[in-house]
Amino acid sequence: MPFRSLGLDAKILHAVQDAGYTEPTPIQTAAIPPIIAGHDLIGIAQTGTGKTAAFTLPILTKLAAQPPGARRGTRVLVIAPTRELVVQIEENIRAYAKYLSLTVATVFGGVGENPQIRALRAGTDVVIACPGRLLDLLGRRNGDFSGLQFLVLDEADRMLDMGFLPSIRQIVRQVPKARQTLMFSATLSKEIEALTHEFQRTPKIVQIGRRANPAETVTQLVYEVPKHLKPALLLHLLRDPKMDMVLVFSRMKHGADRIARGLEQQGIRTGTLHSNRSQNQRLRALNDFKSGAVRVLVATDIAARGIDVDGISHVVNYDFPMHCEDYVHRIGRTGRANAIGDAISFVTPEDQGELRSLERFIGRGLVRKRAEGFNYSAAGAAPVEHFRGDRQQQRSHGQGGPQRPQRPGGGGRAAGGGNGRFGQR
Ligand code: AMP
Repeated sequence: MPFRSLGLDAKILHAVQDAGYTEPTPIQTAAIPPIIAGHDLIGIAQTGTGKTAAFTLPILTKLAAQPPGARRGTRVLVIAPTRELVVQIEENIRAYAKYLSLTVATVFGGVGENPQIRALRAGTDVVIACPGRLLDLLGRRNGDFSGLQFLVLDEADRMLDMGFLPSIRQIVRQVPKARQTLMFSATLSKEIEALTHEFQRTPKIVQIGRRANPAETVTQLVYEVPKHLKPALLLHLLRDPKMDMVLVFSRMKHGADRIARGLEQQGIRTGTLHSNRSQNQRLRALNDFKSGAVRVLVATDIAARGIDVDGISHVVNYDFPMHCEDYVHRIGRTGRANAIGDAISFVTPEDQGELRSLERFIGRGLVRKRAEGFNYSAAGAAPVEHFRGDRQQQRSHGQGGPQRPQRPGGGGRAAGGGNGRFGQR
């Protein structure tokens, strides 16, 4: 079905064309017409399905149909659980609204509040916010939501998990009852059903094939490796230039820092994404990864949840995920839009039990692979020595570590700070 049969405004169709989308995704086909018709809607779909456009395109179509004089304060409020997701939604909305004259602002913690206060007071048309900071600012009488027409709760299940329900309730109390409410969640649980009763009026339910199973396009491999050889194995694998945009998952924040330092030491440009880093550092790490300024991004599960980055070539589960759902989320970052991606899991002898549970969960066995040319018998060396040793090996082979060709817009600078502390101890 072509986009133009969904009833979207011509200017928005133009922007969609500019984005290079040729046809709507299933969630878009199912959700756009009822939203344009004015229904509340609950969409059961994960990140990566095109859900942001599924709610943004029809809302923008409805705004485009309103006469300019009809403006009164903020008209659209999107609430999302993390700052990264808020920024991502903002980027999407700006792209789709590029031929409309609308104002868009974001509200989230960890950055200065003055620009956010100014935007709220100015009655910005579309506000995308994390619940905590928004409630804080509204509590100090910033912002006028009395004319709000559209409320979107994105990743509602995560917001419940993160304990945001009381804040969301307080925010919703400040918006008109006569509004259109759209909610998106990866799962339809009892708690989510309760939320729909609380916030929505006879919503349409649109459910897009739950991805309990990882995408078919992802090749999943397991590398069995003793714990102390994980750093060396990661470096060994990264010699393959095909691993040109790699998301590495670490269980712990300090582990993520250690991995990143070790890679930087070997001349591999690396960023980190975890909650100990400031908001600006997190945004920069993400942008550097997107632009190609860093080749590897090391992240923890919470920081990476919901992040949408095109073109990730490989996901490496450096630490085996704690929960089966995390595995599915992690590897969902690659193999998107039908590109072939690889998900690589390091499995230590201690992880074997969890690997079996995971295989039961996803309903299939994962292929075990041995890394060609990797010295599995290297005994008990500390990670630092392995990173150092590897560099010497690379130098002696004249490889110097593969570099990723710059993608358009890539800054090309050495990223991640390169503090070298890992090797200076
Ligand atoms: P989302 O599920 O909203 O995080 O979107 C996942 C990715 O799919 C984003 O990078 C969008 O730019 C992209 N996308 C959204 N709709 C389409 C479409 N109809 N065709 C191709 N890509 C799309």
